[in-house]
Amino acid sequence: MARTQDKDKDKIEISQYILHKVPREAEVTRIEYEGPMLAVYTKRPEILVDQSSVVAEIVGVIRKRIVIRPDPSVRIPEVEAEKITRELIAPEAEITDINFDPSLGEIIIETKKPGLVIGRNGAVLQEIIKKTKWRPHVLRSPPIKSKIVTHMRHYLHSESKERERILRTVGERIFRPKTYDVGDIRLTVLGGAQEVGRSCFLLKTRESSVLLDCGIHPGSNRPFESFPRFDSPEFQIDSLDAVVISHAHLDHCGLVPFLYKYGYDGPVYCSAPTSNLMTMLQLDYLDVANKQGVSPLYDQKDVRECVLHTIPLRFGVVTDIAPDIRLTLHNSGHILGGAMVHLHIGEGLHNIVYTGDYKFGRTMLLEAAATEFPRIETVITESTYSGPDDVVPSRVEAEEAITKVINQTLERKGKVLIPVPAVGRAQEIMLVIDGYMKRGMMKEAPVFIEGMISEATAIHTAYPEYLGREVRHSILHEEVNPFQSDYFTIVDHPRQRSSIMEGEPCIVLATSGMLEGGPVIEYFKNWASDERNSIVFVSYQIEGTMGRRVQKGIGEVTMMDNEGKMVALSVKMGVSTIEGFSGHSDRRQLVNYLTHLSPKPERIFVVHGEKQKTINFAGFLDNKAGINTVVPAPLETFRLL
Ligand SMILES: [Zn+2]
Repeated sequence: MARTQDKDKDKIEISQYILHKVPREAEVTRIEYEGPMLAVYTKRPEILVDQSSVVAEIVGVIRKRIVIRPDPSVRIPEVEAEKITRELIAPEAEITDINFDPSLGEIIIETKKPGLVIGRNGAVLQEIIKKTKWRPHVLRSPPIKSKIVTHMRHYLHSESKERERILRTVGERIFRPKTYDVGDIRLTVLGGAQEVGRSCFLLKTRESSVLLDCGIHPGSNRPFESFPRFDSPEFQIDSLDAVVISHAHLDHCGLVPFLYKYGYDGPVYCSAPTSNLMTMLQLDYLDVANKQGVSPLYDQKDVRECVLHTIPLRFGVVTDIAPDIRLTLHNSGHILGGAMVHLHIGEGLHNIVYTGDYKFGRTMLLEAAATEFPRIETVITESTYSGPDDVVPSRVEAEEAITKVINQTLERKGKVLIPVPAVGRAQEIMLVIDGYMKRGMMKEAPVFIEGMISEATAIHTAYPEYLGREVRHSILHEEVNPFQSDYFTIVDHPRQRSSIMEGEPCIVLATSGMLEGGPVIEYFKNWASDERNSIVFVSYQIEGTMGRRVQKGIGEVTMMDNEGKMVALSVKMGVSTIEGFSGHSDRRQLVNYLTHLSPKPERIFVVHGEKQKTINFAGFLDNKAGINTVVPAPLETFRLL
């Protein structure tokens, strides 16, 4: 009871301060929590937009983000608002869709050129607010149409009432008064220690509890090893404040919908591209499981709950996620939208960087991982390629190596199969193939892109601001972007496969990247026994997967045929592994990264690596850099402060 009164008191104090600061003529009608922000509803939103310094001053004092919302009573009718908005925006901006979100008072403008809609210093947006009393929300329409992006935008729009309820509840929880002084910071490993897979770390203070990643283990079939250890006594779903997702790979986000099935009603924080990619991969995971006759732990309804509860954050924006925890995401260089997670606990009490997966080096697709943070005491780092022999060749060497394999295979009239995870490596390889064929260094041949890869590619083109400089430039400013090159043919129906399999020499990019289901299996079964063909691995193969067995040179594999019977299949095709395309850092890059971190951390937890590698790597770091290292085991809890 005392807590409820306190909560009201807190909000009343903040509200009174805002009312006192805001010019009277703005006519503020109410102030509400909206997720990690405060929404100020006003009858004259244009006044606060004009006087943005007033808002900045308020934010500086209350240290909470503020969003200005027009009061429902002043918004002009939607039809009229749409007409005025279209008149205010230059035709070159190419509006593709306009929608309204009545619960938030937003006019959602989808356009090919968001910059033109925003105008110089936001001038056009200010005009829209002034004339329509709706708050404009500008979204980029991808140059390649993405079903996921479109569906998710429509779904969020149709559920805006429920979304409003969720944001309000989340806000009230974040800004509840602290019951205890901040302290007793504990880290419990629920998965992803001494293994690659099921990443999941629980961070608790006396006051709050946050989950970092929530993944599955793709190489394991036993439930006990496939999923995070939610049976840990430290984990209580009812007291969970937030889930933070570093990136969209299933070993980091595959089990998030499961939390909603078991009653979690709180937020998921991640970048906007991660939200789209994660939804795509979770739906595909359900699809693959159903096709294999396995019943997954959750269904599509739970994936939709996850979408409704996701609060996308931009890199570098500090956000309150619990009464004593602030979150900031930074680029990790691993895949589109992939983030390093920085947590600031208490007022300067303790700072954690959870790296997720990262690449400390530029790739064609992304910039290198961020190294500068305001403060760091504890780092939790991945160590996938941390073994002494894990030396990844340079990009140029990797590009030359794949060109050589492809040329040799095509010359002997063979076909090239490249299993790729839909997100990241696929787009990287597409850029390489397009570039080398254009320059005449790779033999020209048709390149077939299987369905989900093209969907993931479309999502990449929706977020050029997250991509590396050159790709971003070509998506924003060139007529034909490299992902839409003439060399590529998208396979959008399984019917097309048989003619590709029996046809001329060609290159196929298909999922899954580890030969665990997906269309790649069809091609593999068809092509494996012909020695003219090649399979080229360009991504990490987790122990226990079919991909790992083929990579190690197994001569015969057992697979299910079309009638569901297990048959032996001899593997005679060429098998190559090309390391340089990895989205992970190799040992040298890991060491460089961890020793270049600014400021220098006090302690490093080494996770997300095979057991022997993590132990060896931690010892090496300890000696070389003099940093206290820890190799945690699953279910272990550590007191950080
Ligand atoms: Zn990953």
